[in-house]
Amino acid sequence: MKIPKKIRIGGQTIEVSQPNCIDGGKLGECRLGDGYIRIAEQFNSAKQSESSKLNTYWHEVTHCILDTMGRGDLSQDETFVSCFSGFLTECYISMEEDWKKDNDPKTE
Ligand SMILES: [Zn+2]
Repeated sequence: MKIPKKIRIGGQTIEVSQPNCIDGGKLGECRLGDGYIRIAEQFNSAKQSESSKLNTYWHEVTHCILDTMGRGDLSQDETFVSCFSGFLTECYISMEEDWKKDNDPKTE
């Protein structure tokens, strides 16, 4: 899956960028108020794998959705967010595998 450059959550546009690294050595971060998600290209001076970046993407999307829902209590629960976003990642990857079976190989 290609990570999009822009998504909408609850009517708000969220810009998604992939800087080389993020302060504090984080894999990703989001700030709903400022409308952005950042996914680090590198983590611990090694390139973050595509599957790890995808996992980070859905993790940050989950934070944004929960914050939009006014459920900051759940958004601050990293165990909940990681578990929920892990399910989303798996679900999305399995959908993509199914689409690939049916699609022209030229369309990725
Ligand atoms: Zn988190």
